[in-house]
Amino acid sequence: MEITKKIMEKQSYRFIGNHSAIKICEWTKKSLIDKGECYKSRFYGIKSHRCCQMSPWILCNNKCVHCWRPIELEICLDSNKINEPCEIINQALEKQRKLLIGFKGNPKINIKKYKEAQEPMQFAISLIGEPTLYPKIGKFISELRKKGKTTFVVTNGLQPEILKKLGENKQLPTQLYLSLNSHSKELYEKWHKSNKKDAWKKFNETLKLFPVLKTRKVIRMTLVKGLNDKNEHIKEYSKLILKAHPNFLEIKSYMAIGFSRERLGYDKMLSHNEIREYSKKLVKELKNNYKVLDEHKLSRVALIGKDKKNMKIKKSEI
Ligand code: SF4
Repeated sequence: MEITKKIMEKQSYRFIGNHSAIKICEWTKKSLIDKGECYKSRFYGIKSHRCCQMSPWILCNNKCVHCWRPIELEICLDSNKINEPCEIINQALEKQRKLLIGFKGNPKINIKKYKEAQEPMQFAISLIGEPTLYPKIGKFISELRKKGKTTFVVTNGLQPEILKKLGENKQLPTQLYLSLNSHSKELYEKWHKSNKKDAWKKFNETLKLFPVLKTRKVIRMTLVKGLNDKNEHIKEYSKLILKAHPNFLEIKSYMAIGFSRERLGYDKMLSHNEIREYSKKLVKELKNNYKVLDEHKLSRVALIGKDKKNMKIKKSEI
């Protein structure tokens, strides 16, 4: 096994087939011992202990400064050997169950939750890489939907044509996330170091496409102190956001975790109060009935949207 994968396995990543991976989320672990639920549980109603955090495509066409993944290290994969969605799903479930066995002996474990966790009902397709680069992403989402599982897909927005196709084929995830971290082309290029030449243009195409995509849509902003959190840029951010007209916005502090710690330190994290203040200012600029709906202090995140009633995912939205 190549060195990068070995390092990542030490950090509890598990690889599946040629281009996929899973890792048990810290919130899944916490939930199993009743030590809290993640903010997506609080905001949208998913169950942290029944979540499978994974990626069907471990490579990305960006190298974002805040990324917790090892962007400095090369991961090699044989992209000629594409795995089938069902193979990946079955293996992800199997590996998740294997990783969970270790928790069985923990005296603090909530046994009811442990039993439920054997069948994850939420797929957080955001672990590493860019999911829309997986050539069978549409079928992958459809298969999960058939099994009644919610799917959260986080994209960098550089493949608007794929998102459009997912929309046309009714294969969009339960909740589609777009990461927005730069207010201008100049910052975008510094921040994301994309290997796609027209990345800023593609990203803007996705913003424009967003309103016609029929699913729950979220824009996630990860703020890094002194880099993209300046008040003078709120107007530019709000213009970009209003192009996309998302259902929700998650305003989140950068967290010094994983490989990102080598690039940015703890002093680059915003306090929850700073997140709260920034969100209030953004809402003021956005107007259009956007308001701060909720927050999760531990994760230093605020949720912006229009109506609290729409926060929780309904069965009909899976
Ligand atoms: S939704 Fe995200 S944060 Fe919550 S348990 Fe799943 S992977 Fe973790």
